[in-house]
Order: sequence, then structure tokens, then C-alpha cells
Amino acid sequence: MFTMLKNVELYAPEYLGTRDILTAYGKIALVSDRIDTWQQLRPEVVDCSGMVAMPGLVDQHVHITGGGGEQGPGSTIGPISPEELMKAGITTVVGLLGCDGVGKSVQELLMKARSLEADGLTAFIYTGNYGIPAVTITDRVLTDIVLIDKVIGAGEIAISDHRSACPTRNELAKLAYEALTGGMLGGKAGVVHLHVGNGREGLAPLFDLLETTDFPVSMFVPTHLNRNRSLFSQAMRYHKEGGTIDLTAGEHTEEGINVPQCLAMLAESGNGLDRVTVSSDGNGSGAGPTQREAASVAALFDDIRTAVTDYGLPLELVLKTVTENPAKTLKIYPQKGKIAVGSDADILLAEKATLTPRMLLVGGRLRQIFTLKR
Ligand code: ZN
Repeated sequence: MFTMLKNVELYAPEYLGTRDILTAYGKIALVSDRIDTWQQLRPEVVDCSGMVAMPGLVDQHVHITGGGGEQGPGSTIGPISPEELMKAGITTVVGLLGCDGVGKSVQELLMKARSLEADGLTAFIYTGNYGIPAVTITDRVLTDIVLIDKVIGAGEIAISDHRSACPTRNELAKLAYEALTGGMLGGKAGVVHLHVGNGREGLAPLFDLLETTDFPVSMFVPTHLNRNRSLFSQAMRYHKEGGTIDLTAGEHTEEGINVPQCLAMLAESGNGLDRVTVSSDGNGSGAGPTQREAASVAALFDDIRTAVTDYGLPLELVLKTVTENPAKTLKIYPQKGKIAVGSDADILLAEKATLTPRMLLVGGRLRQIFTLKR
């Protein structure tokens, strides 16, 4: 129940230098430059010399029950394992449906989230799928958010995509009302997580909604905004005007811009990286030449590392996009996304020189030792 991390370079995510970290009963109990009087607790002691500690990653877009299905029943993808998430350094996950709201259900998502929690992870879900009206458990987005503990918002609702229901302004407004009021009554984030496709309108439906209604901009999280260049330039404008933008890791298509490059562009432009989040879209379809392989959650930390090693961005800056920023968006900060006294003891330990993940604390328990060399 006690773990002591000695001599670790701490990115909380802000850089705090060499520290000792004591965890107790799943929480961070003490962070100090040197903790001396601890032997009586008999903690598990890990010498972290040469390692960096950072908050366990918060991934707000994972198809935990499997995505796919867009090329027929043979193309559906199965549920993700807790080990796969932990190997990717992810300790908090938000599960969601995609295009398929028939073969997959919100009920299934809820049960999968509970099963991931039984394995020690923290899991939430969005109610809904691409379509309108959204598929739900209680027949309403609002009551799903208020009454079901794990439901923290609506998503992923598709706009600007040939697979979307082409929601009108009124339909989007009604959905936003349900999510906002559900969030208020349920004490949740009540976000609307919007899948933005390659359609010609891009972010225009969201700009239109915000210009003509009084919904707070902070409740919308449009994602996949790096899937093509014109969408990313709209995203830069949306971000500059106060919006939160979510980028999808592992983007390698010709039309798309990969996450490290996007982060560099945002940092250089003066926009900065506040209100920028990155998610993996893991376990959805779309990977591989046949588009039938599941996208990997490991792309999330791979892209963060590349932003540091290949684009020279500071780790403490890019780390925010997968820790502090999504945790703030989901209103689970500083319990998640932060290493500080009182926060949950979800800590990713990586080699300092190569940023290769080595160990993971999930709720204070040392759960995963990485042996694979990159
Ligand atoms: Zn999507």
C-alpha cells in the first residue's frame, strides 16, 4: 500500500527537478526533494535514478469495446485489454462508440469501463455514437449523464463526414443542451466530443452553433482536427478564439499532419498548447493498408516522445496535452493528470535518455514493467 520512488526527475507535468515521491493507499502522499523518515512504513522502494516520472496519461478517445464495422461484419474490432492500455502508459481512459451503434452499445461500453476499473484503471464513457439521435442507455443523453456514474459527456457525434447524420444547428443545440444540463445536474464535465470528418464544412457547424447560441465554448471538444490541412488551419483559428482542440495521434496519411508537427506549429504560432489535447483513437479502425487493423493506443506516447526528440519541444510543454489538459477538459483535474500531494498515484516512469516507458503505477500499484527495448 506504500510505494517510494527515489531520485526521480519529476515532470508534474511542469518540471520540478529531482524528487522523492511517496504514495499511500493509491494517492500521492508526499513529494519532496528528499524523504528521509519513511522506513517504518515499509514501502516498496524503487530507485528511479536515470528515470523521469510523469502523470499517467489521460486518453479521452479510445474505442474500448472495439471500433470498425464500416466494411461489414468482418471488419469489426474486439475489445481492448487493460494490459494494452497500461503498456501505452495510459491510466485514465474515456471509452466511446464510433460509426457502429448497432453491433456495439453504450451498455457494452459501460460494462467494459467497469471491467477496466476492476483491473485498476480509471475509465469513463461518452454516451452516443456518430449519429443523431444519439444511442443511449436511458433514451436521453441528459439522463445518461446525470444518472450513470461513468458517463461524463456525449460523443463521438459526427459532423462534416459522409458517415454523419448531417446534424442541423437545432439538432446540435439540443444535444448540447442535454450534455450541458446533464453535466450540471450530475456534477460532470458534460462535454460534447465531436468527431470531425473530412467533409467540406470542417468546423463550420461548430462555429455556427457558437455564434448563434450561448453555449460555453469549453464544453465542446472537436477531434481528429489534424486529419487534413484545411481542417487544421480552421482548428488553429478555433483555438485562437478560445476553443479546445483535440488532435489524433498516429496520423500518417498524406493529407494529414502528424501530432508532433501540429504541436510545433501551435507552439510557434503563439497559440501555445493550453486547451490543446491529444488522444489516440485507439482500437478504432483505420490502421494498416486494408483499414481493418485496430489503431494503437501506443501512438499517444510515441507522438509525445517524437515531439521532444525530433521537434525539440520541451517535455513539460507537450506532456500537458496528454495529462493536465484532458484532465481539465474532463473536470477530473487535479485528481488526474497531475503529480501532486492528494492526486491519484497514477505515474508513468520512463528512461530519461530515450523516454522509453519502463514502469507504471496505477492507483499506487506497480503494475507494469516494460522490457521491450525500442
Ligand atoms: Zn472519430
